[in-house]
Amino acid sequence: ICLLGISCGLHAQQIPRNTTVGIDEKVAQLLAKMTLEEKVGQLNQYTGDRLATGPVTANTTKYQDIKAGKVGSMLNVRGVKDTRMVQEIAMQSRLKIPLLFGLDVIHGYRVTFPVPLAEAASWDLKAIETSARVAATEAAASGQHWTFAPMVDVSRDPRWGRVMEGAGEDTYLGSLIAKARVKGFQGNGLGNLDAVMACVKHFAAYGAAIGGRDYNSVDMSERMLWETYLPPFKAALDAGAATFMNSFNDLNGIPATGNSYLQRDILKDKWGFKGFVVSDWGSIREMVAHGFAKDNTQAAELAIKAGSDMDMEGHAYIANLVKLVNDKKVDLALIDDAVKRILRKKFELGLFDDPYRFCNEERELKVLNSAENRAKARDVAKRSIVLLKNDKQLLPLSKKLKTIAVIGPLAKSNKDMMGFWSVKWDNDHLVSLYEGLQNKLGKNTQLLYAEGCDLADTAKCNFAEAVAIARKADVVIMAVGEAYDMSGEAKSKANIHLPGAQENLIKVVQKTGKPMVVLTMSGRPLIFNWTADHVDAILHTWWLGSEAGNAMADVLFGDYNPGGKLPMSFPRSEGQIPVYYNYKSTGRPSPTDMASTYRSGYLDMQNSPRYAFGYGLSYTTFALTDLKLDSHKFKQNDSLTVTCNLKNTGRFAGEEVVQLYLQDVFASVTRPVKELKGFEKVYLKPGESKTVKFVIGKEMLSFYDQQMKWGTEAGEFKLMIGNASDHIVLEDRFELEN
Ligand code: BGC
Repeated sequence: ICLLGISCGLHAQQIPRNTTVGIDEKVAQLLAKMTLEEKVGQLNQYTGDRLATGPVTANTTKYQDIKAGKVGSMLNVRGVKDTRMVQEIAMQSRLKIPLLFGLDVIHGYRVTFPVPLAEAASWDLKAIETSARVAATEAAASGQHWTFAPMVDVSRDPRWGRVMEGAGEDTYLGSLIAKARVKGFQGNGLGNLDAVMACVKHFAAYGAAIGGRDYNSVDMSERMLWETYLPPFKAALDAGAATFMNSFNDLNGIPATGNSYLQRDILKDKWGFKGFVVSDWGSIREMVAHGFAKDNTQAAELAIKAGSDMDMEGHAYIANLVKLVNDKKVDLALIDDAVKRILRKKFELGLFDDPYRFCNEERELKVLNSAENRAKARDVAKRSIVLLKNDKQLLPLSKKLKTIAVIGPLAKSNKDMMGFWSVKWDNDHLVSLYEGLQNKLGKNTQLLYAEGCDLADTAKCNFAEAVAIARKADVVIMAVGEAYDMSGEAKSKANIHLPGAQENLIKVVQKTGKPMVVLTMSGRPLIFNWTADHVDAILHTWWLGSEAGNAMADVLFGDYNPGGKLPMSFPRSEGQIPVYYNYKSTGRPSPTDMASTYRSGYLDMQNSPRYAFGYGLSYTTFALTDLKLDSHKFKQNDSLTVTCNLKNTGRFAGEEVVQLYLQDVFASVTRPVKELKGFEKVYLKPGESKTVKFVIGKEMLSFYDQQMKWGTEAGEFKLMIGNASDHIVLEDRFELEN
């Protein structure tokens, strides 16, 4: 049944409003009717795991609390049936304030897209926005109002398991991606049926956990915080993000959740954020374990004062805030401010116009897992693949090959392709590499399969079977990497080499002398030096989601020419971590000059990563030429136009990401050797060329000076254009005048 005249097909429709009274006024009217207990209730979020799986019986605490108006939001209640059922309980409360339903919709809801780090490798902002748009459309049709995404934490540490959830090591790329994701989730605004609220997380600096150990302390300079870690948050806010999530870590001695400098001074005051901040799961009460609050009561007091508006499954607010206000330890105005922020979003979402947001099972069935959504997932998946090596032009493979050996513990896996943070569904069709190959190739190609070894357990190997089928084949396709739960929350690793015996399997099969393509699949940069040195072709495919196998087959057989670029450096050894492209010069000889004794580096290894940020090959070749600057000097309020020519000099149509890097050669504080400041992804047919243009303005040249003031300094800048951070093709210098 279609509710209130909303056509089931038109899920992108604006929510019809019941009144013309402005939202601020509605919020004020409602607030005036609320008791202190009801106000505190709005700041309380429970998880619905148990509610959703079992029958809701009237004697569960959560049921009672919802009915008593003591809950503002639920997370982990999934699907129209369950969200409706739980919302109906809220409709029995005195003021009938609807619940907000939130869920981790990180890379797709029903149709799983590539993990965020993989999508970042596409350097394709439109594709990334599309992925978030599809996820939002599906989630909204399924009763969700709110996704706990995007995670915009910059990270330079591939040991940290959560790098799979972010956009990698770069602040500029990360900021653009943060914006694209917020736009995708929130669509044309919260008043539309297909929008969900974005939640920018984790505020702040979670990605800099010491040693890459999840949840660990962060200690960093103000300069590093403002220059490297905060900009993606600001970008997401500027794109209209409705909510923020704080973070588990302490920053310079103060837990983010109790950090008034972060949440009040920066976010709410300086940046003017009007939405609300939700804590991370239990992070309010965790301040006791941090040794920052003496008990839950004090934790609640510190968190509300510091600007955490909603308590996610921490039970600290609901248990303590009423008393804290009555005891005059917490000012009622603080509670009112937090409640208003939350109610405002409920009004903007149209929940007071229809608490079910016009969701019904018919709409859900129609929107979820549609062929159109799956086609989009396949498209984004193939754009996320990075070609790391292609000696002898082994790739693309011919569709006329007679026999292919498909080897490796991930060759037939579809579950691992979903990666961490995917929403689990029963009976959904997920495409493994093997199935993707079957779909792509006709009856004339024979596929032989051997697992070769287990993903992790070195005792479970059958190299002999793998070698035997390789011998019979024209080409070997090898699928190695991580299981879906080897990167993700609480999945940090000290050893990020290919797990188990997988690299040994590659070595053994390589001895057959057969041409071999290795597909590396993971949620993080991996180390596989032997493979990088010895095999002919490597595609890093990450975890690509529901359509993984089809996307990989598209790339293997040249129906799509890969154009992805690494958003994060791949180290040679864990000992190099952190290794990233935008480091600073020391006073010593170049770190790449291994012969120099007193260089800043290691005796036993060069400083450079195995594969650098921005690196990725194509089946075709491109030439970058004709660098032109419209002037070599320009004034602060002017701009400089830079052009260059990109030509496809090879045999295949394809895309190249032209990357612009800048360096402030000399300044009042030391500056990185290069920083990404612009890029353009260009599609060219063989022989075709295009002029690529960048306009350099003041913002691109600004930095925080010794007084932490943002601005530029006159002087010389180096301009570098290339197709990887370690492959600069065009270079010039210009001067910024006073
Ligand atoms: C994670 C958050 C997530 C939340 C809810 C926490 O453990 O750190 O990113 O949104 O759980 O699932």
